[in-house]
Amino acid sequence: MTDRLPPGSTIGILGGGQLGRMLSMAAARLGYRCHVYEPGPAPAADVAAERTRAPYEDADALAAFAEACDLVTFEFENVPAAALDDLAARVPLYPCRSALETSQDRLVEKSFLRDLGLATARFAPVTEAADLGAALAETGTPAILKTRRFGYDGKGQARVADIAEARAALPAFGGAPLIAEETVAFSSEISVIAARGRTGEVAAYDPGENVHEDGILATTTIPANIPNRLRMDAVLIASRILTALDYVGVMGVELFVTADGLLVNEIAPRVHNSGHWTQAGCAVDQFEQHIRAIAGWPLGDGTRHADVTMENLVGDAVHRAPDLAAEPGVQIHLYGKSEARPGRKMGHVNRVKPLSTA
Ligand code: AMP
Repeated sequence: MTDRLPPGSTIGILGGGQLGRMLSMAAARLGYRCHVYEPGPAPAADVAAERTRAPYEDADALAAFAEACDLVTFEFENVPAAALDDLAARVPLYPCRSALETSQDRLVEKSFLRDLGLATARFAPVTEAADLGAALAETGTPAILKTRRFGYDGKGQARVADIAEARAALPAFGGAPLIAEETVAFSSEISVIAARGRTGEVAAYDPGENVHEDGILATTTIPANIPNRLRMDAVLIASRILTALDYVGVMGVELFVTADGLLVNEIAPRVHNSGHWTQAGCAVDQFEQHIRAIAGWPLGDGTRHADVTMENLVGDAVHRAPDLAAEPGVQIHLYGKSEARPGRKMGHVNRVKPLSTA
């Protein structure tokens, strides 16, 4: 399919969280309807035209969803492979299944990046205790053990000082396949949000600098405090990854800034929390950019017209929203979630300043 998706068409979104909510709003602006597929509570359903509430294993519900949609995308990368196969056989799916597969497994992801010639932390697979000696010989110590699949926001990770700690940490993973990684001495963390269209064009936003608290993204600041040559490197790295995956849509690429240059930490095959600043900093934000890419529109060029700091409102911090709204230059986004549980992303704010010369 190379023609532009006609107005009034229905875009299916797998996953119904805040990313799906903001994608649905952007799609509506471009004249599309969204149909959200989400097994649990779905903040996206409040703003979408249709909603299916069913497990990803429900073949009949998936078939009906595919039938109701003109193309399907996702806001959540841990959709089971079988569900994607079912859908891809019935309806165009963007980004493609293989991009999702690459990012679902940290070992496959890191191997893909290394094979592309990109720098990553040293890594090695760990399937059982007997692998730990060789794995830590590869990574050095201290090291980080991570589950290969289903990790997010720093969950499913253990930092270990030596092999004894690594052995002691293993039972908590319950036998899940792991990857051991070198602990990178980074000076900062940045991410690039980039998009690739159906005809192969790539557009990237300026890298943002990310600060995490308790493994959860706390703030993204644009411009990142890095030399221009690293800004350029980051964008080129993202572009290579998207092109190698024959990717269509928006991707988040997370990088560590080190004394030896940039290392790729991970890729997220979807719109990304560290790209929320684009809502206030760019004419075409990452959500519209994703819809443009998958629907066959020209991409926005990623130009930035402001400096922005994005701050996540996590848990009870959401109650600060009315006070924050009283500050000048603050854009508020709330996700419509009823319960402000600790660690739950409830909203974010974008603080806008005039463009600096950086
Ligand atoms: P991840 O889920 O892999 O993005 O990890 C969550 C956070 O843990 C990252 O944003 C980093 O702050 C930290 N982290 C992850 N991997 C490493 C590593 N190999 N070395 C140092 N810090 C790491």
